[in-house]
Amino acid sequence: MLVFAAESSCDETSICLMENSYIVEHVTFSQKIHKMHGGVVPELASRSHLEKIQIMTNDLFNNKKIDPKEIDVFTATCGPGLIGSLLVGSTFTKSLAISFNKPFIPTNHLEGHILSTSFNNNIKFPNLILLLTGGHTQVYLMKSENEIELLGESVDDAIGEAFDKTAKLIGLSYPGGSEIEKQALKGNEDKFVLPKPLVKEKNFNFSFSGIKTNINLLTKNNKIDKKFIEDLSASFQKNITEILIEKLERGLKRLSSENKNIRSISVVGGVSNNKYIRSKIENFFVDKNIEIYYPIKEMMGDNAAMIAWACMKFYKKERNDLFFKAMPRLAVRSVLK
Ligand code: ZN
Repeated sequence: MLVFAAESSCDETSICLMENSYIVEHVTFSQKIHKMHGGVVPELASRSHLEKIQIMTNDLFNNKKIDPKEIDVFTATCGPGLIGSLLVGSTFTKSLAISFNKPFIPTNHLEGHILSTSFNNNIKFPNLILLLTGGHTQVYLMKSENEIELLGESVDDAIGEAFDKTAKLIGLSYPGGSEIEKQALKGNEDKFVLPKPLVKEKNFNFSFSGIKTNINLLTKNNKIDKKFIEDLSASFQKNITEILIEKLERGLKRLSSENKNIRSISVVGGVSNNKYIRSKIENFFVDKNIEIYYPIKEMMGDNAAMIAWACMKFYKKERNDLFFKAMPRLAVRSVLK
């Protein structure tokens, strides 16, 4: 089966051609236009998607000498995400499906992240999913290959958003995640003690917005120089990681008291790129007999390959839906079928 997928839920324009479980071609364009604004500007994002997606698709068909008539299924992210951006990718892909008279399958962006580690791993169930992105911080339980339960999520800012906002407060550029990771390498992670909201609660809910207020105060009471930026980056990164680990510790205990013994954990989304967070999670799971999975590099951030894969994995002709409306808050299905 040859699938064409498009992803445009936020600030990456991405298209992918996947044949069964082989990535034929995958191109992702990260929009630079938001850098000067310190965050994603929705209107600029949709315009940029529109400008790019047709050129990218044309190039892909020409470079790979693909006859689009050979494509069996078209799919695009239909939510959650920025509505203008979702409309560009999904409407464009629907038009392709119409013109080649092939099915259009709407795909949920979060299901793409959730299923991303099953592309390169043989998942052991029950599998805990730690979804860490710029827009979401969620924990899911995959009871089997197709049963998903949301266990908890951030009640305010997403983890990636906390990185971006902190970076902005100390004068680092957008996107902040990689910048903070870089600065943190040179800093003293014990220099600043930051709050850990909700950490004592025995659930998987997170809150990150209070930390930002705290950092805002620190920037007012300290001279923002090289040393301050390095130390604050390191202290912030350590604090966020400790919140994740403490939450995992309490959450896993609660799950096991309910006879849900997790056999593996998937760390997915752009933040799974952070080497410090990865190594701390790996340390925590040493001797716990729980396998850790990550997506392949190109499925970590927002990308069309995971959308193609999610479509492929549970493909059913009946899901063909040209009239599916893109939705900014599209919910993850509890049973994939
Ligand atoms: Zn995402």
